[in-house]
Amino acid sequence: MLRLTDIKLPLDHDDSALPQAILQKLGVPAEQLLDISVFKRGYDARNKRDIQLIYTVDVEVNGQDELLEKFAKDTQVRLTPDMTYKFVAQAPENLNHRPVVVGLGPCGIFAALILAQMGYKPIVLERGKAVRERTKDTFGFWRKQPLNPESNVQFGEGGAGTFSDGKLYSQVKDRKHYGRKVLHEFVAAGAPEEILYVSKPHIGTFKLVSMVEKMRQQIIDLGGEIRFSTRVEKLDLEGENGEFTLKGLYLSDGEYLACKQVILALGHSARDTFQSLYDQGVYIEAKPFSIGFRIEHEQSMIDQCRFGDNAGNPILGAADYKLVHHCKNGRTVYSFCMCPGGTVVAAASEPGRVVTNGMSQYSRHERNANSAIVVGITPEQDYPGHPLAGIELQRRLEEMAYQAGGENYNAPGQLIGDFLAGKPSHELGEVTPSYTPGVTLTDLSKVVPDYVSEAIREAIPAFDRQIKGFAKADGTLTGVETRTSSPVCIKRGKDYQSINVKGLYPAGEGAGYAGGIWSAGIDGIRVAEALAMAFDNQA
Ligand code: FAD
Repeated sequence: MLRLTDIKLPLDHDDSALPQAILQKLGVPAEQLLDISVFKRGYDARNKRDIQLIYTVDVEVNGQDELLEKFAKDTQVRLTPDMTYKFVAQAPENLNHRPVVVGLGPCGIFAALILAQMGYKPIVLERGKAVRERTKDTFGFWRKQPLNPESNVQFGEGGAGTFSDGKLYSQVKDRKHYGRKVLHEFVAAGAPEEILYVSKPHIGTFKLVSMVEKMRQQIIDLGGEIRFSTRVEKLDLEGENGEFTLKGLYLSDGEYLACKQVILALGHSARDTFQSLYDQGVYIEAKPFSIGFRIEHEQSMIDQCRFGDNAGNPILGAADYKLVHHCKNGRTVYSFCMCPGGTVVAAASEPGRVVTNGMSQYSRHERNANSAIVVGITPEQDYPGHPLAGIELQRRLEEMAYQAGGENYNAPGQLIGDFLAGKPSHELGEVTPSYTPGVTLTDLSKVVPDYVSEAIREAIPAFDRQIKGFAKADGTLTGVETRTSSPVCIKRGKDYQSINVKGLYPAGEGAGYAGGIWSAGIDGIRVAEALAMAFDNQA
């Protein structure tokens, strides 16, 4: 097969245009072209009046070798790379022990799935509940029921991204094409096939729930075991002078699980577990993350600004944006986890704290667009002195947000115009914030450090120069956005094991090695492979 890149066609092109463009590019007659499959379809909307679709296609042609020779100097015509996933190991017939995966978020799911597919029959431990029960707890909390600290947006089967927009792209380097394996497994579990070829695939929350169940079933069918409501409390370590070997795990139900290899896919909110690991001497470093607010505008305004008269075209869907501003005070403000046509969600996992995040359905049909507008912070500058100091900072801000919201899990909120003018809000305008249980209008600068307010005040008008209306006075802000990524890194070496605990494989977002569903899935595969290749079957 040949891969042709950068084929540009108008947004409203008809079905024959793509084969025509391919024939023209290759300079061959129609009989020579045997098959076409679209590998990627993106768009270029820089010129709103002339939005172009950009295709990468794989084609089967007669005379492939001659064509390769003819286009030897053309980087837009290449041999299609082999992107099929190949297993790196196979478990021995008589397994003397089983690997353990802690956490059933995207990283843990893919680690467990790959291990199961290679025959290792993993044991999976997840502190939260199975996804249907978890959905009830989470939606209940959004409808003013009590927060369940073990079953919420952060904890439970499917991990942090279950109630999300389900965006499946990131900028991670993926030379081994693990990302394709992730997408293929999602499709096998019921995701729409288009995620394989659209340039910014997303799944939406409800579809994710049933996909997670199917993937769990596959792990079980292959001999894996999944234990919900089972939190890992402590490691059993042997060793001295800061160098350890893993012997087993102490679990919240009182059980002791002897094991030699554990993938630790905790996610960024397992603060109690980070503390326990630190107390036991597992090497952890503080790492940068970002803090700020969620911003909401009407989606129609974003669509109009990005797509002009083409707003509403089903191929384009609801428009997204990605914005960055470097401030005078040296800070960088950027948009993050933009959810077109979505809602802002209550993402707390600890009582007495308020956190915002965003999600949407596959259709992205809700009235508002939301996105985090956050400021990058670093341990050196903002929370020095202790590997877990970032967690303390997050907690402080989330407590202030809880208090400013009225101590009932309402999020504190403010109109953009009032925030820019430095005065509290008292009344909503045209944009109704979507966060539930509710929003308490106030002065949001109370819940973040001054440098954050300052930076965001400078950035919003700058963003308005790119998206007209972004600084619109009655757009809304809610807060506080603190769980943008993990505040810690559980350092691992080239063998993917903790640099001071043999047998422990820190992975995914919580360990500092992924950011988002797709990259967490990719990291899960990587670490599962490393574990399989180091597997020692001795009892
Ligand atoms: P997690 O998904 O956090 O999973 C960790 C799991 O470990 C959890 O299920 C937790 O219960 C479990 N666990 C923790 N401690 C223990 C313990 N001690 N014992 C046993 N189990 C434990 N990313 C995107 O790419 N696209 C999006 O659209 C998107 N939207 C998001 C929307 C929301 C509301 C949120 C909260 C996140 C969103 N993200 C999104 C981020 C994405 O969800 C995470 O990057 C991703 O889930 C990280 O995967 P993970 O497996 O590393 O960790």
